[in-house]
Amino acid sequence: MSAPDNSRDIFEDAVGRLDKALRYADIDPEAVERLKHPKQVLEVSIPVRMDNGTLRIFTGYRVRHDDTRGPTKGGIRYHPQVTLPEVKALAFWMTFKCAVAGLPYGGGKGGVVVNPKELSRMELERLTRGFIEQIADFIGPETDVPAPDVYTNAMIMGWMMDEYSKIHRRRTPAVITGKPIPLGGSLGREDATGRGAYYCIKELERLRGWTPHNTRVAIQGFGNAGQHLALLLHQDGYRIVAVSDSGGAIYREEGFDIPSLVFAKNETRRLKAVYCEGSVCTAIEAQTLTNQELLELDVDLLVPAALENQITRHNADRIQAPVIVEVANGPTTSDADEILSRSGKLVVPDILANSGGVTVSYFEWVQNRSGDYWSLETVHERLRRTMTAQFQAVWRIMEEQRIDMRTAAYALALRRIGEAIASQGTVRFFTARDS
Ligand code: NAD
Repeated sequence: MSAPDNSRDIFEDAVGRLDKALRYADIDPEAVERLKHPKQVLEVSIPVRMDNGTLRIFTGYRVRHDDTRGPTKGGIRYHPQVTLPEVKALAFWMTFKCAVAGLPYGGGKGGVVVNPKELSRMELERLTRGFIEQIADFIGPETDVPAPDVYTNAMIMGWMMDEYSKIHRRRTPAVITGKPIPLGGSLGREDATGRGAYYCIKELERLRGWTPHNTRVAIQGFGNAGQHLALLLHQDGYRIVAVSDSGGAIYREEGFDIPSLVFAKNETRRLKAVYCEGSVCTAIEAQTLTNQELLELDVDLLVPAALENQITRHNADRIQAPVIVEVANGPTTSDADEILSRSGKLVVPDILANSGGVTVSYFEWVQNRSGDYWSLETVHERLRRTMTAQFQAVWRIMEEQRIDMRTAAYALALRRIGEAIASQGTVRFFTARDS
């Protein structure tokens, strides 16, 4: 999934951002060197008996980037263009996301090279159980805790937990998060990523004095994260003028009735410009655009919520939105970042803006380990407090150091990771003379 701007490996591009943030964090250079290399990388082959009797071999990866602050944590994606550099980059971002969110986790990620839309449900289950069989010694509640990502969902997480529990002959809900509620999932996990981004936008609203009905929003990607964010913003009166999925974008100056779009998309799996009363939907007028055109719209707020590498050096100077909130992981390449920064755009970086998902995953893990399950209100309130506090911490560093928000988020993460590494001793400690 890491095309189209592949002049540089996506992992190298991600790691390249560390050097910029290093100046603003008191961290030993040897600790930074450590963070440039993933701790463990596993590649597996997964034989799956297909419904027609043939055998197909799928490739899967699991990467543990860094576990200084706690067990590694990160989703598993199913996508035909999954690559190892991409999974390494995603694991790297998870290390920094967990540190920015203040969670006691390091970063990990996994992926299987597959188009799940081409598999039957039974093939999908066999593939999922086969993948867990291959990585069962690599993951665990105290070592590496997976979660859903692109094209994986709660049911798949439930199969994974079940398979792991069978292999280890003990029920282990804390091995994976994002599970169905009856299997130990947390209330509030489903919309956590969108909701976390929403709390960031509420902070921007306060800081920038936005009035929701005058604020025009474009959202690229209408999946789990994009839909939930759109619903919450719509409830507050924001004008969502454009949304898209892999089939393209729709645009309407007056804004869309988001619950209608969500209803129609979930019923038909297609994004359509409709207004629904109950289950009866009527088509409404709207312009169709490409995903690239959506990114370049003249709106107040742009939310990439689909894929990596969407804003690149090829289109960054055509982005008109003054504020970009990155809900997808890695939607902006580092050279595009420079262009956006020069033209005064505010980018709320992925490692902060989409950290709501991993935060509620952490809540789920805590609940699984304690056996004490929280109300939805508790989950929402704790998520709001975490997101608001971390947003404000990053904002303060940005203002104090006069740097962009991404560099500030990396600096905050580096400070936290650096403290953890230094507390075990670095070259400064081991070469100091005892007085
Ligand atoms: P999803 O599978 O639910 O939805 C992905 C959406 O992107 C779908 O609407 C799909 O049609 C659309 N899409 C696919 N290709 C596209 C293209 N070329 N152009 C435009 N849209 C396209 O996935 P999700 O969970 O919503 O994740 C979206 C992004 O958010 C990913 O980058 C993911 O890593 C990130 N993210 C998700 C979570 C989470 O908890 N779901 C947490 C953190 C980050």
